[in-house]
Amino acid sequence: MTSKITHAKDCKCVVCGKQAEVFWPCFDPDIPSNPYCRKCLEKEQMKLLIELHKIDEKYKNS
Ligand SMILES: [Zn+2]
Repeated sequence: MTSKITHAKDCKCVVCGKQAEVFWPCFDPDIPSNPYCRKCLEKEQMKLLIELHKIDEKYKNS
């Protein structure tokens, strides 16, 4: 039986090109998720948190 599931470990990190460990983001099937290595994933998640925080601030100030 052949699995059609693509494993992140078979892909390369979209940021640094090293072996990926996880696909992210994967909360919405409409959004294509990219493979990331652990290090770059942390950075991406941090960026997202900062972006969300900025949006929060925007609403607070308006
Ligand atoms: Zn990476």
